[in-house]
Amino acid sequence: MPTTEETQALLECTARSSAVKYANRFPPLRRLEAAERWLEQWSRNMVAGKRMRIVHYGIEHIGVWEKELSYLNTGETYDATICQEDRGELFVGSWGDWVEGEEEKFEEETDTIRCGFCGKNTPRNHKWSDTVCDHCNNLVGG
Ligand SMILES: [Zn+2]
Repeated sequence: MPTTEETQALLECTARSSAVKYANRFPPLRRLEAAERWLEQWSRNMVAGKRMRIVHYGIEHIGVWEKELSYLNTGETYDATICQEDRGELFVGSWGDWVEGEEEKFEEETDTIRCGFCGKNTPRNHKWSDTVCDHCNNLVGG
């Protein structure tokens, strides 16, 4: 038998997938709001006599280089939530993972590395730990 927590996680996962499917039928600028409304409605329902609730605090935006991610804010960087990159289709993911992925892509494309000291990107050496930051002159590893 799955535990209560496992059941809850499964139901939340199913709810998010359904909200994404529903909301992707809307025009791009209205998708996240549609998903938010769907989840609010779902949160009012009872599942097996228990009130299920997905808590979030509105729509947030974060930019990495030229791209923007909009997402339903859960208050946690790596929590699964509903996201939209630029004006694309909604998907389930965390904004923390998205930011890391975009930063990695940027570093590969530009052959740079993000400085752990000042947070700026600098051309990388063969061995990353020997790389000295062009901006602050510290080792990027800190
Ligand atoms: Zn630096």
